[in-house]
Amino acid sequence: MNDGLDRLLADLRGEYPETGVTLGEPMSRHTTFKIGGPVRALLEPKSIGAFVWCVRELEGRELPYFILGNGSNLLISDGGHKEVALSTARLDTVRVSGDSLICGAGVVLSRLANAALGEGLTGLEFAHGIPGTLGGGITMNAGAYGGELGDVVESVTFVERDGQVRVVPKSECAFAYRSSRFQKGGAILSATLRLRPGDPKAIKAKMEELMEARREKQPLNYPSAGSTFKRPEGDYASRLIDQCGLKGLQVGGAQVSEKHAGFIVNLGNATFSDVYALMAMVVTKVYKETGVRLEPEVKIIV
Ligand SMILES: Cc1cc2nc3c(=O)[nH]c(=O)nc-3n(C[C@H](O)[C@H](O)[C@H](O)COP(=O)(O)OP(=O)(O)OC[C@H]3O[C@@H](n4cnc5c(N)ncnc54)[C@H](O)[C@@H]3O)c2cc1C
Repeated sequence: MNDGLDRLLADLRGEYPETGVTLGEPMSRHTTFKIGGPVRALLEPKSIGAFVWCVRELEGRELPYFILGNGSNLLISDGGHKEVALSTARLDTVRVSGDSLICGAGVVLSRLANAALGEGLTGLEFAHGIPGTLGGGITMNAGAYGGELGDVVESVTFVERDGQVRVVPKSECAFAYRSSRFQKGGAILSATLRLRPGDPKAIKAKMEELMEARREKQPLNYPSAGSTFKRPEGDYASRLIDQCGLKGLQVGGAQVSEKHAGFIVNLGNATFSDVYALMAMVVTKVYKETGVRLEPEVKIIV
């Protein structure tokens, strides 16, 4: 059947033949939860030009799609998807200019933190252990240990839904706790991060200290999407979940981590429905016992 996606793929082959195209790719291979059914196509453009072309054409032809970073904050349902996953994996350039890093959306945060260390620049130590990309990190305003991406962003280049490429300063990114304007739309292409000169030894020591703290507190030996729920005002989701006696609660292969109640982990064969049902049980019990309604931090694609 020659439908809209087939035509788009034929045109893509003509315009940008080097673009990676995988039909029916299971998203379980691209999420840190190791959960997610096949998308119609996974597209991996190798240049900004090709990426912008894909966004414009997907939007123009009204084909459903989502942007895939490192899949470390995604819970994707198991069935077949009508959607296209547009990956930023190949937008992975890093350029240094004075105290700034100018980076593609697909650069993973650990690489960025190491690049900053290599240049003797401080400000990105907190991001070293967050397993996401720059684009996903900005979209989520990812943060840890007192820092967040919004603190270091100077400007962001992105494609609007109407296909326009725009550059916006930090003040127009609407950064808030685990939130930014990009959650309402717009595909991030690259960003400029403004850092400060620092002592490489101190930067390295901080990165190692924070990584050690993660290893100690987080269930890194199981697949997960990090913190399942956002921090409620004035409290911690993990504290409330623990207080309600939910550590270790299990549905199928999904479990509220015994090590860190804020994480739901995949014990090996968890399905989307297992995780979803467990999340619902946690929300209900915490609300009943504490009056606090937890909100998911993970982005759910059904
Ligand atoms: C073990 C573990 C620890 C974690 N620790 C932390 C932590 O300390 N702090 C924290 O904040 N998070 C943490 N996370 C969650 C996750 O790593 C972050 O939210 C991260 O920023 C997601 O980036 P990503 O590239 O994986 O995005 P994805 O999961 O691929 O996508 C997340 C959302 O961003 C969108 N998106 C991705 N790229 C773009 C783009 N270029 N343009 C527009 N939209 C885009 C996606 O469509 C999706 O809606 C952790 C996760 C794990 C598994």
